[in-house]
Amino acid sequence: MTDLAPQLPPLREVIARHGLSASKALGQNFLFDEQLLDRIAALPGSMEGRAVLEIGPGPGGLTRAALRAGARVTAIEMDRRCLPALAELADAFPGRLRVIEGDALKLDHDAIMGEPYAILSNLPYNVGTALFTRWLSAPAWPPRWSSLTLMFQQEVAQRIVAASGSSAFGRLAVLSQWRSTAKLAMKVHRSAFTPPPKVMSAVVHVEPAAMPEGVDPALLSRLTEAAFGQRRKMLRQSLKGVPGAVAALESLGIEPTRRAETLSVADFVALARVLGR
Ligand code: SAM
Repeated sequence: MTDLAPQLPPLREVIARHGLSASKALGQNFLFDEQLLDRIAALPGSMEGRAVLEIGPGPGGLTRAALRAGARVTAIEMDRRCLPALAELADAFPGRLRVIEGDALKLDHDAIMGEPYAILSNLPYNVGTALFTRWLSAPAWPPRWSSLTLMFQQEVAQRIVAASGSSAFGRLAVLSQWRSTAKLAMKVHRSAFTPPPKVMSAVVHVEPAAMPEGVDPALLSRLTEAAFGQRRKMLRQSLKGVPGAVAALESLGIEPTRRAETLSVADFVALARVLGR
């Protein structure tokens, strides 16, 4: 954290002064605990001088934590009501906060950032998974982003980091783990949010890893869609619609009578590689 961090008003005061009542439609559940926010902003490692993209800064709690940690932040916020509060924060950290008003789902993040960047967000739950799968499906690998540090509903976080053989293991786990490392970094109690959501939350930290050679991401996606689309069925049944899949299973010594959730991420990667030949 930089020694020169400016004194900022408490977040509750910022909300009250700017009349920022939480909007359910925009998935607004705010975090006010500055120690918790500092701990989340510290998860990607040293932030000093790093470019950070934040989605949904709202009144700026996580934003101020990233700025205090030394980051240069670009924040995309859809709710115009938050812009005056964010402008105050930009004044407190001159030249270090750029706010873009807009829908993060419709914007080209790489083009906006123009340099490698870390992504940090207390995601609006309604758009969280869509943004996450888009970042993980980047056409070039390694992607321009260096890490994803994201708040999810705990149940979604568990599906992201799930190990093979568990009931949470599915498409999201394969997508998150086949060319990245994904960790459940911190659980966050629902009472930490205002208003508290119905469910518990957790922060997931993802970093790109080496991409396995000879694997077409689109083919891997088709395979997992078919395999987990009918997860209770045996693979020989669920993969019927993917030409050559059952023969590929046999060539790898994987019993076609097994179910998708018993395969490992490496099995899916091997299957996609054989099918792509
Ligand atoms: N970061 C703040 C915090 O931690 O207290 C607010 C988090 S709140 C869960 C989600 C924020 O995302 C809200 O400010 C909401 O207006 C914003 N938001 C919702 N959908 C969005 C979208 N598609 N693009 C950009 N921001 C969005």
